[in-house]
Amino acid sequence: MTELKTYANLIGGELRPGADTLDSIDPATGQVWARIPRGTAQDADDAVASAKRAFPKWSSMPAAGRAFFLRKVADVFAANAKELAELETRDNGRIINETSKMDLPGMTYLWTNAAGECATAVEGKSVIFGPGSMGYTRREPYGVVVGIIPWNSPISTFSAKAAFALAAGNTVVIKPAEQATVSMLRLAELLQGVLPKGVLNIVSGLGEECGDRLVRHPDVGRVSLTGSTETAKIITRASTDALKPLALELGGKSPNIVFADADLDKAAEGVSTRSIFTGNAGQACLAGSRILIERPVYDVMIEKIKEKMAAIRLGDPQSTETTMGPIVSKEQYDRVVSYIEIGQKEGAELLYGGRHGAELVEEEFAGGYWVEPTLLAAADNSLRVCQEEIFGPVAVVLPFDTYEEAIAIANDSPYGLASGVWTSSLATAQRAAQDIQAGYVWVNTYRRVLPGLPFGGWKDSGYGHDALLENTREKSVVLEL
Ligand code: NAD
Repeated sequence: MTELKTYANLIGGELRPGADTLDSIDPATGQVWARIPRGTAQDADDAVASAKRAFPKWSSMPAAGRAFFLRKVADVFAANAKELAELETRDNGRIINETSKMDLPGMTYLWTNAAGECATAVEGKSVIFGPGSMGYTRREPYGVVVGIIPWNSPISTFSAKAAFALAAGNTVVIKPAEQATVSMLRLAELLQGVLPKGVLNIVSGLGEECGDRLVRHPDVGRVSLTGSTETAKIITRASTDALKPLALELGGKSPNIVFADADLDKAAEGVSTRSIFTGNAGQACLAGSRILIERPVYDVMIEKIKEKMAAIRLGDPQSTETTMGPIVSKEQYDRVVSYIEIGQKEGAELLYGGRHGAELVEEEFAGGYWVEPTLLAAADNSLRVCQEEIFGPVAVVLPFDTYEEAIAIANDSPYGLASGVWTSSLATAQRAAQDIQAGYVWVNTYRRVLPGLPFGGWKDSGYGHDALLENTREKSVVLEL
């Protein structure tokens, strides 16, 4: 039997093994395939201390100096994209077509872009007040910024948090999610020596152990969480004593509204495979998990969506033939399966899928966590499967008769992360873009996150995001001349 690799944390520029470890499980087979550190409160303290030590030099470096280092990180991504994509696919089951063709190529671009923005961070404004006084603003970094990330897209979430925090002159401590940490710890190995010591630290471990310590740490200036609304509430309470600024990028129950005048073939692909089923098997915060269809085209759309679902291929996430991978863990698998049952008990009709387990895949993957793409029809948006985030390949369809009814259903949700509108009418699109309560509205497309546009939620989907300026705080300076 081959020895399992045990990964280490990156603290103060050194790779430090954990005193204790956690098993990392391959979700496609259910087998342990690597070990990761179970970081302690002491590891968290050490990571914050090293980031604090590195801060004065990093923050006072000319912007061009920081840009030089961030470009080197972009080069690491470019040189190691294939390996990192394969590791991330092994780690969380996200299909290789997405990690290798979308996520990793995007990272080289993102870090290069962040390098280019380093100089923007110091721009302020000036105000002349009469002949004798003038003032100006400075933008300064917070100091040590903590990023807590989920398991569904570790490398891209890490990059979105770290790149702009570093560009703004902060030093960073990252805690990946315990379900999928390996790609992050391999990245830690690759980045060792690339950035000055302590500028970037990566500590693996459980949320309630080292994560909690990071959030409460008095030397941490800002915390950015991407995760669930429940965790956000815990972190908000934990950070209130120190009044830390938070950015919370949370869950969703996003509506996709199909009007009768839409290009129905394009919409069928857009609301099914593109929005929710492929890629992460529905384990995406922005998944379009509620599909609202105008009544005259309801039946024909259901048939078209079912055709798209029938073409989805489950199986080996490393194969380019596969279009949907497994659920990340046994715990999440049980949760997704339970929602399929809850929906039917509540009166939702099972229109497609619903099967789960080993029967869906070849024997080699029988121990993995497989759920078929599933479509439920609900008559009423108050059902739990319409209100609660399932975070799996389960979508619910709801019919509507009028524009007003569609918007009312779309907004009848505790969440407000993303949304889609499918129509050939520019007027309807513009009106819906105004009326929908969500941080992102796609028209005749979905899951197209444009760099440069803010991505963040409304309502229980959180607030704030990780752009450059959000990683700085403003200072006003008044000069008496
Ligand atoms: P989670 O909330 O369980 O965990 C997220 C992170 O928080 C993990 O690193 C975890 O260890 C840590 N954590 C948990 N408890 C903590 C505590 N008490 N103190 C400090 N850290 C703690 O979320 P998850 O299951 O990993 O990810 C799925 C959730 O993330 C979904 O709700 C999804 O919608 C959301 N998400 C949102 C976005 C977005 O950009 N809005 C993107 C991806 C995922």
